Amino acid sequence: METAKYSIVIPLYNEESGIAVLVAKLQEIMAQFDGPAEVVMVDDGSKDRTFELALEASEKDPRFKLIQFSRNFGHQMAITAGMDASSGDAVIIMDADLQDPPHVVLQMIEKWKEGYEVVYGLREHRQGERLFKTATASVFYGLLHRIADIDTPVDVGDFRLVDRKALNAFLQMRENNRYVRGMFSWVGFRQTGVPYVREERFSGKTHYTLSKMVKLASNGIMGFSTAPLRLALNTGLFLAVAAVVYGIVAITLKLAGVSLVPGYASLLFAVTFLSGIQLAVLGTVGLYVGRIYDEARQRPLYIVRESHGFTHDKEGPVLWSPAAVQNGQTMLRP
Ligand code: UDP
Ligand code: MG
Repeated sequence: METAKYSIVIPLYNEESGIAVLVAKLQEIMAQFDGPAEVVMVDDGSKDRTFELALEASEKDPRFKLIQFSRNFGHQMAITAGMDASSGDAVIIMDADLQDPPHVVLQMIEKWKEGYEVVYGLREHRQGERLFKTATASVFYGLLHRIADIDTPVDVGDFRLVDRKALNAFLQMRENNRYVRGMFSWVGFRQTGVPYVREERFSGKTHYTLSKMVKLASNGIMGFSTAPLRLALNTGLFLAVAAVVYGIVAITLKLAGVSLVPGYASLLFAVTFLSGIQLAVLGTVGLYVGRIYDEARQRPLYIVRESHGFTHDKEGPVLWSPAAVQNGQTMLRP
């Protein structure tokens, strides 16, 4: 088979109700590409018939390739695996629920041809998403924009097209706690955005539970900023200075002969307040230490149970090896 010019990476988690339409839409859009294309579907440990349906699609149309994880590793790992396995000169990352409209991909390709190496989708308007989601998202992106070491564009998700050069740089980053959109900001290259309207989910419901959102947000903040540590340090310093000032005031009053009745309430307040602050500081430091532990174990990012449609399909668990990735050979790419 000729090598693909375009790869489309699709993470799938319990998407059985939408697969047929997704496949049809992708075929429609691929027909408008100016070169051969492949789709890399990653089944992230779905518990419904997603895998069977995706396998059916891949058997009918050999451009559709499929990776199955051994369990649910999460959206960020699924898109990482898809990018590891794609062979295109330009790789497009897209959600399975058609919230990222496929026709925008054509505009992204135009930008790519103009010489941009990363073309991300800019969410102009979110349709049918709950106020809670849009509100938390705007607070989070605003905060990240202010404190992070990278310049993260606001209102940008993982929907994007990346050139092989930027992708190879990205593939070298094998951190376990991943915030893919931030990592793409970090790698640099010529980047631009294409505005689009984020549609309603085509079918099914969101799989981003609150705890998954919190995890993603903390990966974004802690992966690209040490601001929480600085905040802890500054709070500690401020309290220490305040304590000294209080001490000086107390001594001065004593020397001046003003009789101070030792206050039980203020004492209790100081003790509980300070122990609260200490625990919070310790916890913040702990979060970063936990991440060091996570990275130090060097576990594989994900485990593949089986793959279909690749030239080097493997039976049984495929283990990710750091050396292979460093050499630019990932397990599935020829
Ligand atoms: N997804 C995944 N693993 C997960 C959760 C989600 O692969 O653990 C996929 C999901 O199938 C979809 C994409 O990630 O293709 C985005 O998920 P979703 O639409 O649920 O998130 P939202 O659009 O609500 O942020
Ligand atoms: Mg969605």
